Amino acid sequence: MNKKNKVEKKRQKEQYVVEEMIRLYCRKNHKEYDKTTGKMCPSCQELSDYARLRSQKCPFMEEKTFCANCKVHCYKPEMREKIRKVMRFSGPRMLFYHPVLAVWHLVCSVKEK
Ligand SMILES: [Zn+2]
Repeated sequence: MNKKNKVEKKRQKEQYVVEEMIRLYCRKNHKEYDKTTGKMCPSCQELSDYARLRSQKCPFMEEKTFCANCKVHCYKPEMREKIRKVMRFSGPRMLFYHPVLAVWHLVCSVKEK
């Protein structure tokens, strides 16, 4: 696999994990979450779209492990606060819902410290 594909894969994985974490957070915390369709509330959807956009524009995808651990904080303050809340809530719970993803996330967190 060439370098570009590898970075692209990482980007997709990050977007997927972040979205799953936001979804989990919304499901457990917001009444507006639609259980039948899996649709997030407008505020979480906005955060998810924002995170996706940041990830797409991130110039450090190759070196960094995860946006939440990134040394260059490209999130604007209010979004950063939101995503941190999501991470704090969903991070430990991902172990239950998505063991593989959670392990991957934990490894990344440890490495970055
Ligand atoms: Zn929500």
